[in-house]
Amino acid sequence: MNTLRIAIQKSGRLTDKTIQLLENIGIRFDGYKNRLLVKSLNFDLELLLIRDDDIPEYVQDGICDLGVVGANVTLESEAEVTVLKDLDFGHCRLSIAAPAGSPVRSAKELNGKRIATSYPVLTKNYFTKLGLDVKVVKISGAVEITPRLDVADAICDLVSTGGTLKTNGLRELETILRSQSQLIRTNKPLPDHKLKLIEKFLVRIEGQQLAENSRYIMMNAPKESLDSISAIIPSLNSPTVLPLADPDMIAIHTVIPISKFWEVMEELKAAGATGIVMLPIQNMIN
Ligand code: ATP
Ligand code: ZN
Repeated sequence: MNTLRIAIQKSGRLTDKTIQLLENIGIRFDGYKNRLLVKSLNFDLELLLIRDDDIPEYVQDGICDLGVVGANVTLESEAEVTVLKDLDFGHCRLSIAAPAGSPVRSAKELNGKRIATSYPVLTKNYFTKLGLDVKVVKISGAVEITPRLDVADAICDLVSTGGTLKTNGLRELETILRSQSQLIRTNKPLPDHKLKLIEKFLVRIEGQQLAENSRYIMMNAPKESLDSISAIIPSLNSPTVLPLADPDMIAIHTVIPISKFWEVMEELKAAGATGIVMLPIQNMIN
């Protein structure tokens, strides 16, 4: 009863990434394939493996305390849950697309038309906000072939690269939602024990995200360059400075956001740094 329960997708695009995330933060499982409920070996947490469409309701109703699911699914379900964190995987967009050969160039031109989608709520809301009235045709799969079958005039579907749309002779018109996987939490009151576990869980995820977005960099430099190099490094902490066999040289070690690496690399070289090495970081607690 006291074990924290998290709903995750049983088998699909999010499954491996979700398990990977849990393993990256030190939560281990002994096999999860073809199982419904799996207890962690070393954290007071169990997985409930279900279809992603069921996750928001399960979390809303408190059957699960937490869930990992795409924002697209949560918003479509209209479930009342709290988003704790964007998880930076499962990126996609929900877009409106029409046959490439049709004269339609924008969603506005679809007034009165039939739109096939697996996301009727989000689709309807979008058009209603534009002041348009469309006929939403709910389809649960292979939405992209409906215009060819004359079931619909346009579609509203998930896209990541756009390849599937192109293959099916469709042109993307407008994006109605940008989505990624999120950690959601039930709004039902939880006992202290579970709140503490959630807090612990979140700290670990934050550490993991920080590590993923950071790199450990090492370089050698003339001693007199230390001040100019320190000024360039957008470091999280002050750098580690180590002596080298050559008394005029030092080694500088530090952690920087990955987004800055290429930017500062040029400047570091110009300031005299040599042998710059960048390493991934497994985890990091600030
Ligand atoms: P289930 O059997 O669990 O209902 P599903 O077929 O609905 O699975 P998947 O195709 O596995 O779902 O997609 C799960 C989630 O992955 C989507 O809801 C979305 O958040 C995300 N996603 C990322 N890229 C794409 C994409 N190109 N197409 C569809 N979903 C994507
Ligand atoms: Zn689904």
